[in-house]
Amino acid sequence: MSVRARTRFAPSPTGDLHIGGVRTAIFSWLLARHTGGEFYLRVEDTDQERYVPGATRRILEAFDWLGLTLDGGPDHDELRAMRTNEDYPGALDDGEYKGIPGPFVQSHRLHLYKQWAEWLVAHGYAYRANETPEELQRMRAEAQARKQTFIFREEMRLRTDVRADEPHVIRMRVLPRSGRTEFDDLIKGRLSFDNAQVDDQVLLKMDGFPTYHLAVVVDDHLQGVTHVLRGDDWLPSAPKHVLLYRYFGWPEPQWAHVPNVLGTDGKKLSKRHGAQSVFEFRDQGYIPEALINFLALLGWAPGGGDEQNVFTREELIAKFSMEGIGSSPAVFDYNKLDWLNGVHIRRLPAEDLAARLVPFLARAGILVDTPEQRARLLRIVPHVQERIKKLTDAAPLVDFFFSDIHPPPAEMLVGPKMDRLQSLEALRETRRVVAEVEPFEDALLEQALRALCQALGLKPTQLFTVVRNAVTGKSVTPPLFATMAILGRKTCLIRLDRAIARLQSGM
Ligand code: GLU
Repeated sequence: MSVRARTRFAPSPTGDLHIGGVRTAIFSWLLARHTGGEFYLRVEDTDQERYVPGATRRILEAFDWLGLTLDGGPDHDELRAMRTNEDYPGALDDGEYKGIPGPFVQSHRLHLYKQWAEWLVAHGYAYRANETPEELQRMRAEAQARKQTFIFREEMRLRTDVRADEPHVIRMRVLPRSGRTEFDDLIKGRLSFDNAQVDDQVLLKMDGFPTYHLAVVVDDHLQGVTHVLRGDDWLPSAPKHVLLYRYFGWPEPQWAHVPNVLGTDGKKLSKRHGAQSVFEFRDQGYIPEALINFLALLGWAPGGGDEQNVFTREELIAKFSMEGIGSSPAVFDYNKLDWLNGVHIRRLPAEDLAARLVPFLARAGILVDTPEQRARLLRIVPHVQERIKKLTDAAPLVDFFFSDIHPPPAEMLVGPKMDRLQSLEALRETRRVVAEVEPFEDALLEQALRALCQALGLKPTQLFTVVRNAVTGKSVTPPLFATMAILGRKTCLIRLDRAIARLQSGM
């Protein structure tokens, strides 16, 4: 086993968790679990303008649903102390931090960022500046007019006598001015950036909040992060962070910039391709076991010629390694996700699947409340389990078990290559058989109805189509005899009688 990794997921509470971000969280979680280390959540709420009330609570809910267990993160008190009360019932209680120092919400750590920004000023690695947004805008426009990227440098300050007690920002001093900043990335290999292209980034803003760049370095260091996994859109910021570690004299974590996720058309994954947030996937009937499996395989493979595609959480933890993460973008294939979801649904114990189906059935207007209804669902589940890819697929297959059906139109009651009279006779004979079969079980029903086919000179598909349509009102259902046995003799007889009446009246 490699060294124990301490990893974190550090979302900004600006909305629901995007599936690409969750994939990075899963890699971080797997690395921590594989090495027996820790995984924690840090809320990066330093951009007060983009803050979305309730976003943190929903991140915690998404983690709970996915089963991404945390060793540290904001507890109830800390969540309640956020700008909008973000408490969540499943949040951590006190003392569950496995040695990771909190707080875990960046707006509760402002004193630390201030302290370390001042340290940088005192040691010559940062300076004070107070250009107004308008002045900066003008400088940016001038650079643009010269077709240059705007890179702020100390020499460009409009006022050099900025005092500590007046409003100002603190900017990092990129040093040395020329030369390169180099570092190793576990996924991208050795990377090298030209210092002349690295901005004298604002570290502490006028409002006393840090920018992401200062906060991420201070927190990752103080909280003992060993591996920084994040999307490779952060790569341009990495040299700033590397320089800050070097200024502070802190050991650098291992860097791992994870390639983007693309749609099957090769474009960056977006709304156009389908669901985006974890909750959209949940509401569309995907189960967390499948989503985790699928997302882990987006850019990671077990290697060593292992072609396995279906993994439990435990198998992923056992097999995960950083070497298995590829350096090219991963493609999000919704068909593969559907397939994996079906596979994981089939692996669920019937009671578990039944419980997960209940809210989806309710959404389709099928209430499974009483013990009798629950027992009925449990009998149905093994027959639909093989046929569904998503939890939403079940409702149309089972609704006729729970509520009365509209008697099907006469055309639907006429079997293939049959006429009305033949179909009517078939239904009448079926009614007789159904009234007599004892006990009312699928094997006996099958025997009796197959014998009836012979007697009537019908092919099984002919008779069974008529009967299926009559008792369920549908052409696609779970297996017919099991369906009839679960519906029960009384319901089958009522529906057969109605079908007979319907065919008769149309004659
Ligand atoms: N707060 C950053 C984000 O929202 C975190 C990036 C990182 O993991 O360092 O993506």
